Amino acid sequence: MSLEEKIQRAVELIRQSHYMVAFTGAGHSTASGIPDFRSPESGLWEKYNPMLVASIWAFRLNPKTFYDWIRPMLGTMLTATPNAAHIALAQLEEMGYLKTVITQNIDNLQQRAGSRRVLEIHGHMREATCIRCYKVAPVDATMERLVLDGKVPHCDCGGVLKPNVILFGEQLPIRVLNQAMEEARRCDLMLVAGSSLEVMPAAEIPNLAVENGARAIIVNILPTEFDSRADVVIHDDVAQVLPLFVQALPPRED
Ligand SMILES: [Zn+2]
Repeated sequence: MSLEEKIQRAVELIRQSHYMVAFTGAGHSTASGIPDFRSPESGLWEKYNPMLVASIWAFRLNPKTFYDWIRPMLGTMLTATPNAAHIALAQLEEMGYLKTVITQNIDNLQQRAGSRRVLEIHGHMREATCIRCYKVAPVDATMERLVLDGKVPHCDCGGVLKPNVILFGEQLPIRVLNQAMEEARRCDLMLVAGSSLEVMPAAEIPNLAVENGARAIIVNILPTEFDSRADVVIHDDVAQVLPLFVQALPPRED
């Protein structure tokens, strides 16, 4: 099947769907310059062992190392802008086709593109929680400046503040995860965009949709294990492909 035929087939599935849910991962934000955490080429792991910096145990032992590691990422996130893939999903929601975006990303770009319903199963950087008294503080410009200046943010009680992202060794946020699984069971079309679906248990979500009878489209630069379960498989850049879906779709009538 040619790329044009695959896009046509995907558009047809979207048009026929009643409840489409999208699942996005690192590949969705690479066109915005956000490095893929798990990619050896990203540079994020050249100097650091993930388990020694990005785990909850490492954070408790040495928060300074964690902040040294996340600093360049935070700098990139603050200057990044949503790309054509984020904008396409926001448009699909606006048009009435897409009901929810479930994302593994922590960069807030999907919301900044205009999406209203986003489930962030790996957390986000908008808030931080004190690891001593569990008070939640917004990550405001002052805290961002502090971290970018090489300091470790602290709570009023003296405890260290940890951004509300899920580190290795931490449970996924159970309420968000439950909502994501509910959406997966409910949808009749699952659109996987820019995720290699390698991180468990998050990657089980698209499988759950298919097991409950949903059709599936996957757009990812590389092949994944989910490909065999999808109705349409497109190995291409999400920022190129998703806008083509939007262009080919009529406004929804129901
Ligand atoms: Zn505290």
